[in-house]
Amino acid sequence: MIDQRFDSTVTTTCGYCGVGCRLEAHTRDGRVVAISPALDGPANEGHTCLKGRFAHQFGRHRQRLTTPLIREGDGFREATWDEALRRIVSELERVKSAHGPDAIAGLASSRATNEDCFAMQRLMRAAIGTNNIDNCSRVCHSPTSYAMRRSLGMSGATGSFADIDHADAAIIIGANPTEAHPVAGARIKQAALRGMKLVTIDPRRIELADYGVLHLSPRAGTNAAVMLGLQHVVARDGFVDHDFVDRRTEGYDELAELIAQYTPDEVQRITGVPAADIEAAAHIYAEAGEACVIWGLGVTEHKYGSEVVRLICNLALMTGKVGRPGSALLPMRGQNNVQGSSDVGALPDTYSGYRRVGDEEVARSFEAKWGVPLSREKGYTIPQMLDAAVDGQLKAMYIFGEDPAQTDPDTHHVVAALESLDFLVCQDIFQTETTKYADVILPAATFLEKEGTFINAERRIQLVEPVVAPPGEARTDLEILTTVSRALGHEMGYTCAEDVMDEIAALTPDFAGVTYERLGRSGLQWPVAPDGTDAPILYEEEFTLPGGKARFAPLPYLPPGSEASDEFPLVLVTGRRLMHYNAGTMTRRTANLDLFPSDVLEIHPDDAERLWISDGDLVSVRSPVGRIEIEAQVTDSIERGHVFTAFHFPEVRTNVLIGQSADVNTSCPEYKVMAVDVRPVQEE
Ligand code: SF4
Repeated sequence: MIDQRFDSTVTTTCGYCGVGCRLEAHTRDGRVVAISPALDGPANEGHTCLKGRFAHQFGRHRQRLTTPLIREGDGFREATWDEALRRIVSELERVKSAHGPDAIAGLASSRATNEDCFAMQRLMRAAIGTNNIDNCSRVCHSPTSYAMRRSLGMSGATGSFADIDHADAAIIIGANPTEAHPVAGARIKQAALRGMKLVTIDPRRIELADYGVLHLSPRAGTNAAVMLGLQHVVARDGFVDHDFVDRRTEGYDELAELIAQYTPDEVQRITGVPAADIEAAAHIYAEAGEACVIWGLGVTEHKYGSEVVRLICNLALMTGKVGRPGSALLPMRGQNNVQGSSDVGALPDTYSGYRRVGDEEVARSFEAKWGVPLSREKGYTIPQMLDAAVDGQLKAMYIFGEDPAQTDPDTHHVVAALESLDFLVCQDIFQTETTKYADVILPAATFLEKEGTFINAERRIQLVEPVVAPPGEARTDLEILTTVSRALGHEMGYTCAEDVMDEIAALTPDFAGVTYERLGRSGLQWPVAPDGTDAPILYEEEFTLPGGKARFAPLPYLPPGSEASDEFPLVLVTGRRLMHYNAGTMTRRTANLDLFPSDVLEIHPDDAERLWISDGDLVSVRSPVGRIEIEAQVTDSIERGHVFTAFHFPEVRTNVLIGQSADVNTSCPEYKVMAVDVRPVQEE
């Protein structure tokens, strides 16, 4: 039925979080005026949250970039596309000829489409000649990807959100879906209300704890000990599924030896969680017929984040709770396309489908398609790019849809890196903290203004449709990237986003059967076979590691990179707010700002009283690398000894406080544990 209030209605996919809600975007007079949920959206089933439903006004905000800008003195002047392109080409060619292609690096965006990210990595690899390409999943879920590939075989959830509906129990560790993935959070609540036994594990008492049967509040940075303790109890009390372990896994004996030492009492000593609660949580999970483990950045953004993901895999493997309905491992990917941006190869070490750049056969298949020689050497990760810029090895960057000056750790170091570059191109929809350091800024399109696909947290590839045209001279990311590549002498030959997906499918076995026609309204969950059959559940018969067996990881607890001390007695944990999304670039330009206009530092009443801090006081937060001022909010939702805030506001600059400690395997920053000193501002 046609709704007379609107000129058109287009079904697309939400551009905010990794749930991947399908939305109906309604227009009037060339503007998006309303958004409602698509009733047949497989991930949202007729629901949305206040971000997806209401936070679309940013698209027509007066601060949108609508023309290219070129630096002039301390500011910028408007330029034509031709002038901006000439400048980009001449500067990139100058750097390449003086310092080689590896003196240039690019950042793709986990907010952009798969087609945009694929074009960006092709721009860097084929037009520039370097593997210096990374994306912002580096600083959130790279540990998940790393660990799941090594334990199970593939870099993605083992099941679907629908598994939550079939689970008898679930553990949520280091995730706050109510705020960061609200529609999935609501699904978890509904399942708990229907009787699913929910265990929450987090230093904050997240809202979902009120729906659960047990909340564990470990000291920040001790997740590994909690997981090892759960495994100890599972083994000790006879819950190991030996048939599954024998047939489908390797390495259990070594794990059994390790977990023997992680008794509940020992885990209590390390984590502060009562031994009885470790026992109870293990029994709830192990005794359930079907059970899920759901995690987020509270697991990954740690020095040993990737190792904790492997320990989560251990728990599922030893109980045989993987590869069947209701028993899934579900990492809650943060941004809308964290999964896809890496799946399609916007990474320094892998092409699409996580195939190594040094793999001769794979590299040759890309060379044959693109008609240029490609480097076999790994490129820089984001942290390596920033270090190389400060050291003078990296001279130019092309950053698209990312704002590292606000989102990446150790802001002073990021700014020093950006200031060290000879040349910086930014491609975005608004001026950001990062564009302040740009030489050229290119105006791009929002997710409501372009075509392509996103991949949600359950590996579901879904169509993104243009609802309105970009404003002014803004262009889609794909149009910009192909134009820049052409100007650099490498013609990509795409006429539309579908051409890009066809190329991804031709080059990537996991996407072999993907076509826009097959994606339709419900999408497909990769791997997609050539005949179009997809995979809502992975590993039903075998794992995708050599021999078809999963691998246990016997990894001990090791302390975090930052610990409370006399000088820095509290531990800062950072996270997200319901009303805002990531850097806040979009949600701060919508009515969501009225709902949550500035950030606060959550502090436990006992800590606040000891430090003479009252609710609403302006406090100073100091870490070894930086200092900010922020309003205090006294609340017992945070564990004693910890404080919490988010990083959505450039005025607060939370990431000034975060240091260089990072995951030992993937360089994902340790945003979740930073020792700080907090005191009222007037005391300083
Ligand atoms: Fe968008 Fe996520 Fe909200 Fe769904 S839950 S509407 S995907 S922000």
